[in-house]
Amino acid sequence: MPVTERDLFVVGTGIAGMSAAVYAAKRGLSVCQAGSTGEIVFSSGLFDVMGVHPVAEKKLWENPWEAMAAVAADMPDHPYAHVTREEVEKAYGELFDFLSEFGLEYRMVKDANSKVVTPIGTEKTTWAVPATMWAGVEAFKNNTPALLIDFEGLREFSAKQVATTLGDKWSNLKTMRIEFPDSASMKPILTGIMAQAMELKETREKLYSLIKPHLDGVEAVGVPAILGLYTPGEILEEMEKELGVKVFELPTLPASVPGMRLKSLFEGRISTLGVDLKLQHKVFSITPLNDGRYEVTFGVQAPTEKVVAKGVVLATGRFLGGGLFADRHHIVETVMNLPVSQPADREEWHRTDLLDPRGHKVSSAGVEVDSSFRPVDENGEVVHERVYAVGSLLAHQDWMRMKCGTGIAVASSLRAVEAFVAQQ
Ligand SMILES: Cc1cc2nc3c(=O)[nH]c(=O)nc-3n(C[C@H](O)[C@H](O)[C@H](O)COP(=O)(O)OP(=O)(O)OC[C@H]3O[C@@H](n4cnc5c(N)ncnc54)[C@H](O)[C@@H]3O)c2cc1C
Repeated sequence: MPVTERDLFVVGTGIAGMSAAVYAAKRGLSVCQAGSTGEIVFSSGLFDVMGVHPVAEKKLWENPWEAMAAVAADMPDHPYAHVTREEVEKAYGELFDFLSEFGLEYRMVKDANSKVVTPIGTEKTTWAVPATMWAGVEAFKNNTPALLIDFEGLREFSAKQVATTLGDKWSNLKTMRIEFPDSASMKPILTGIMAQAMELKETREKLYSLIKPHLDGVEAVGVPAILGLYTPGEILEEMEKELGVKVFELPTLPASVPGMRLKSLFEGRISTLGVDLKLQHKVFSITPLNDGRYEVTFGVQAPTEKVVAKGVVLATGRFLGGGLFADRHHIVETVMNLPVSQPADREEWHRTDLLDPRGHKVSSAGVEVDSSFRPVDENGEVVHERVYAVGSLLAHQDWMRMKCGTGIAVASSLRAVEAFVAQQ
């Protein structure tokens, strides 16, 4: 089995693993990374800091940093209790720089959450929004006269449903259904396929000419997220110029085009930083060596390669990502069998009512860490000197209900990488 030496091994290629690899490579570390692309492709492309706390009250926060401070004060074990606002901003800043270098821009109000209209017409509180969605955030806020378009045969998105559910909240929103150019050959009609087609100038020109006759009194035009897979910023700019109004995308149901954009950008570009990315590879074992390093074995079906690394970042996610596994009695951490914080009894995993506003205790199970994000045991002792756990694998957070998924992922990854660098 070939053996390579690296500074850091990152297990996982979700947002947490990808950002850890970016931070580490930018700090001059040699990095090997393995995983499939996890939940990125299912994500909406929206980046949360902190939206809801306490979850039982479903209290929404306008200022994500005040929400984060409240969480850190009320929940001393929450991952946000280990990091500062400045670190979250720095982590996001470095991630945005990387994404922007390859054409994916984000927009936000620094000290405020924004409301994004979802594909079912509800409002989602989030912080950073793909630039292609920003005009929609502003148009919704200001009740701007806008035209929301959907397409014949596209089951993923109904403009009428969005407008009906929003009702008076966006009373100046009207809707229209048109046939997407050359869609007769698309079977089925999916946003991913439409986005691919939008990379062609010919398709875009046909679309503009279908929309232009309907712009009387309209100040903004919305479409489901289809503005290309690789150059959404350029397509947005061109479309706004051609139509003479603001243009925006709305998120669609997973797996969505914004998720695909993130996936393809990370997978295609992370090697430009020198990261040795082993896509669709699974890590089978991580063994501490006597010299303080770790031997990592990995491969597609079985271990076929070995890396000896000075440190390991575990960004393996939860049940969906594969970092946690639940048998009939316990929840286990799948790669290193690390201690997992979990309810004492399986009976307590779920509350009787599936829709209980407090959520379910199983959603906060995970790996407990110290302030450097090193896993600790039940006595609070660090388990491995240079192993770090980051992202949704962490205990004491219910990111889905609290609306803090990507914020935790990037902040924990940055703190872990900087702690590793400081330990060298
Ligand atoms: C439907 C959906 C919508 C979301 N919407 C938002 C949103 O609007 N805003 C927001 O901020 N966040 C959102 N998120 C959350 C966000 O996308 C991430 O889930 C979160 O940031 C945590 O990601 P992660 O990298 O920790 O884990 P994951 O994305 O689960 O990644 C885990 C990775 O670990 C790898 N892995 C596991 N075991 C092994 C092994 N043995 N060897 C190698 N690799 C392994 C997997 O292959 C995968 O690459 C959403 C998530 C989902 C699923």
